[in-house]
Amino acid sequence: KSKEAGRNTWHFFDPGMESAVKERAALEDDLRLALQEQQFVLHFQAQVVGERLTGAEVLVRWQHPQRGMVPPGEFIPLAEDTGLILPLGEWVLDAACRQLARWATQPELAHLTLAVNVSAHQFGQVDFVDQVLAVLKNTGANPRFLKLELTESLLVDNVQDIIGKMFALKARGVGFALDDFGTGYSSLSYLKRLPLDQLKIDQSFVRDILVDPNDAAIARTIVALAESLGLGVIAEGVETETQREFLAKSGCHAFQGYLYSKPVPLDKFEELMTAEAVA
Ligand code: C2E
Ligand code: MG
Ligand code: MG
Ligand code: MG
Repeated sequence: KSKEAGRNTWHFFDPGMESAVKERAALEDDLRLALQEQQFVLHFQAQVVGERLTGAEVLVRWQHPQRGMVPPGEFIPLAEDTGLILPLGEWVLDAACRQLARWATQPELAHLTLAVNVSAHQFGQVDFVDQVLAVLKNTGANPRFLKLELTESLLVDNVQDIIGKMFALKARGVGFALDDFGTGYSSLSYLKRLPLDQLKIDQSFVRDILVDPNDAAIARTIVALAESLGLGVIAEGVETETQREFLAKSGCHAFQGYLYSKPVPLDKFEELMTAEAVA
């Protein structure tokens, strides 16, 4: 009987599954090494208010020596599971703040803001506020130009603790956006307690905004909600002029998406800025 059980156990590990496990372990090793060897790079995606380029969202990219450019969707979840998101997130924040400090010395770029994605796990660290303050101090970045993007997944944990951290950073001038808004499980009652500056309309509502009346209704409702709570609102995933027009007619005047620019390396982003200054 035990032999049979043993055989059954053996059959349970089919080769496909074994290779998936190996693949994941290999990627995890690579991720650790990538942190040591600084294989990560920031890309910048323009954020536009009205007609003006006001800043960018920072999106991390992994330049893997063999696999090439790995998109965050393929390694952020693994980084979350393994805790590697903590050193990675700190690296991203530090790199973004160093960039803000460099721009501050260039009059034509000094007004630019950066939005940095912060995972729930990262924000949950007991010393997260101190980490951010240390990075600001060490880099010399002005906190007023830094915005942290949080998601609703943050709110499943100790909300009081999260609110406390947000207020502590807010007091230093750091701003907050609620990313992918409308896709999570957060209760609307949290919204009035969180010291947010901005709601980000998720791209899943923007995509079919012209053809799907439900998406249009949701987008308009988010705009109205932001307005009545005294918050800003930005739409992500804006790809066409007609989407932009529809959003503008709905009262949303801040945009991010391929219509303006894909996420690009620093030199390309700065070119966008100079092109705008010339225009
Ligand atoms: P997100 O923060 O919601 O970022 C927006 C994603 O939408 C980005 O994907 C961006 O490239 C993509 N996007 C922007 N405009 C358009 C558009 O017009 N059309 C379409 N189809 N897509 C558009 P990306 O760069 O692959 O990042 C995916 C997610 O990975 C991000 O979603 C964010 O949750 C996460 N992520 C990226 N960088 C970081 C980071 O430094 N830290 C953490 N914790 N998460 C990050
Ligand atoms: Mg984001
Ligand atoms: Mg988003
Ligand atoms: Mg998203």
